Order: sequence, then C-alpha cells, then structure tokens
Amino acid sequence: MKTPPYNLQEEKMVLDPEKIKKDFPILNRKIHGKPLVYLDNAATTQKPLAVIEAIHHYYLNENSNIHRGVHTLSEQATLAYEGAREKIRAFIGAKETSEIIFVRGATEGINLIAQTYGRKFIGSGDEIVISTLEHHSNIVPWQILCEQVGAKLRVIPINDKGELLIEDLKKIINAKTKLMGITHVSNALGTIVPLKEIIKIAHEQNIPVVVDGAQAIPHLKVNVQELDADFYLFSGHKVYGPTGIGVVYGKKNFLEIMPPYQGGGDMISSVTFEKTEYNILPFKFEAGTPHIAGAIGLGVALDYLKTLDLEKVALYENELLSYALEKSSEMADLQIIGQSVDRAGVISFNLAQLHAHDVGTVLDRHGIAIRAGHHCAMPLMKRLGLEATCRVSFAVYNTKEDVDSLFKALQKTLEVLG
Ligand code: PMP
Repeated sequence: MKTPPYNLQEEKMVLDPEKIKKDFPILNRKIHGKPLVYLDNAATTQKPLAVIEAIHHYYLNENSNIHRGVHTLSEQATLAYEGAREKIRAFIGAKETSEIIFVRGATEGINLIAQTYGRKFIGSGDEIVISTLEHHSNIVPWQILCEQVGAKLRVIPINDKGELLIEDLKKIINAKTKLMGITHVSNALGTIVPLKEIIKIAHEQNIPVVVDGAQAIPHLKVNVQELDADFYLFSGHKVYGPTGIGVVYGKKNFLEIMPPYQGGGDMISSVTFEKTEYNILPFKFEAGTPHIAGAIGLGVALDYLKTLDLEKVALYENELLSYALEKSSEMADLQIIGQSVDRAGVISFNLAQLHAHDVGTVLDRHGIAIRAGHHCAMPLMKRLGLEATCRVSFAVYNTKEDVDSLFKALQKTLEVLG
C-alpha cells in the first residue's frame, strides 16, 4: 500500500500563481466554451489535487470507523483523523488539541455554542451583542437562543464605508451583556474587523467573544491565543478543504463547563439507563461518526496553504485586490460597495442600474463565476439601502489575468444590458 498522502512536505514554495492554478484541476474547465475564471471563493473555494487525492486514498485504503476499533484499518483511520486535529491546532495557534472540535461547518459551530454555552449561561433579560456585518449564520442562532431564554440581541452599527463603530460598541455593552458574536472578515464587503481591540474591550467587561472566522482563515494568519478569542470557528470548504467539515476552537475552561451539544456514540464515557457520564474533550462535543475523510482532507488543505506560506498568500491576494480596485475606479458605471481601509479578498459592487443577478448571469456566459445577491447578510444590505450586490472574491489561484477577464466581461455586460 502507498503511504497515505496526508502530510505534504513543509517546503516553502515561491508563490507562482500560474503554477498554483495547475494544482486545482477544476480550473481547467471551460464554461460556455470559455476558460473558467472562478471568482466566487467566499462562497466556496476549489480543492487542490492533494486534498482530492487524500480523500480518495482514505476511501480506497483506510475507510473504517474511528476510536473504537481494534483492527488495523480503524487504527489507521483514527491516526489520520486525530492527526488532522493536531494540524488544525497548530494552524490556528491553539494551546491544546482538546480545544479543537470537528463540526459540519461554521454554521453548525455557532449553533453548537449558542445551544450549549448559550442555553446554560444566558438567561432572561441578558443581552448578546453582534454586529451589522454578520452573516445570517451569526445572527439567526443567537435569535433562536434569545427566543428560548428571553435574552435580547444588540447590534454594533457600521459607518457608510462598512467599518464597525467601535465607540458605539463601548456604549452598547453593559452589565447585562453576556456574550459577543463577531465576524473576523465580512463576507459581503471584505471588511477586516479590528478583532484584537474588540476582544480587549469585551474582556474588560468579562464578556466572552465568539469569532466567526469563516472568511478570515483563508486569507489571514490567525492565532487564537494572540487574539485571545474565547471561541473561533470556520468551515473547511472555504479554505480549500472539503464541504461538510468545520472547526470550533474553544478555550478549554469554557468547553469544560459547557454541556454537550448532541447525545450519542463516542461522546460518552459510560452509559446506564439512570445516568450518562460524558467523554473528555474534545469528544464530548463529537457525537456519532464524524466526517472522517473531511477532517483528513481539511488537514491536507491546511498543509497545502502552509507550503504556500500564509503571509505570502495574504500579500499576493492584497496585490490582486488593489489591482482590481484600481481597475474598478476606471469604470465610471461601477459602484464599489464597502470602502473599508482594512479589507480582505472581497469586492462588492453594482454596475450602473443593472440587477446583480443579471450581471452575474451575463458574466457566467463569459466563463466568469461571481456571486450576486444579498450574500446571506440581509440586515447589512438593508443598512446599505440595497437589495443585492455583485461580489467578486479572490483565492490564491486567481491572477491579474482573471481580473482583466472580469473587467472585459463587465464592459461587454454594460454594452449588452446597459
Ligand atoms: N460566516 C461567514 C462570514 C460566511 O461567509 C459563511 C458562509 N458564506 C458562514 C458563516 C457559513 O458558513 P457555512 O455555510 O460553511 O456553514
């Protein structure tokens, strides 16, 4: 049997976008006869061959259930799964692997915290603070919790550029505030939130902070200990990994006092009809058979990013962003939505008076994939007085040629629809 292709060599590569592009087989596709230009990375990223091969290898050679088996396959699968957990710990700078919980994605991660920490420690009359920038995944689970326990949601406002108003945050938090849920990077505008400062303000009032890192992990070097985040979560599929797998990081002292999320196999240490003792961390939060191949694939995806060097990736993506912003400033009919000084990976815009969906549909005929709509951030759209925007979001395999193709196609869109 071949050695599992789960550990990519940690040799740093020179960042060569054309070479990187070749690592992603799907980017060879043609759409409507045109080469695919994939600019919908905030929705999901494409997968490098290394990730696809790792999943393939796992199902071909090692598929079995984990933790309980005494046979070789189970041991190998367990090693690979737990190896992935360790990779994630190292990638986000957590202290212990027991602080890394596998979930289905960012959405499930937030629901987990709301329904465990939230149900236990938040009660009637308490307040939860979120921001105007949040994705529905970081709004609705808190609303459900508020309905369940009689708590109230408070919202940090933004300015017209799409930046959080920190001075208002200081006025919003008070003795009733029991938790803050905040995004690290806005999926709709790309705004990078000054997280360290916000967490410090919250901690001065003993308020734990849950960070939605879904859009940050692919673009920024994240260290949860440096940030002092109490919880940090993200989805695997937005960081070159598979769908159906994600991560919740939680400080051990919080995870230990939280009740389990779901009941079932693997999350117990003993069961009688009278009483169940729960398993140790992190297994207490992983009921049932997890997405083993997904976790392995995510581990390899993070290895892949490490070979590229996240700092270089961030610099490169910034260069692409500046290039695209410069090009948009030359197009009179294009209105950029969101002007945050600190931003990552995303440009939201509207073209003349055209509906975003029409623009997206015409671009698709040119082989260009972008997002059009409310980006699961309807309250943010309302604040901006919009129903929808077009959104271009970058990944490490995008190139200046992709940006050129986009602007050429936008010009043609204007000619056709304008
Ligand atoms: N938060 C943010 C900021 C997001 O962009 C997304 C996905 N668009 C989510 C949460 C939810 O992620 P998932 O659908 O993978 O659970």
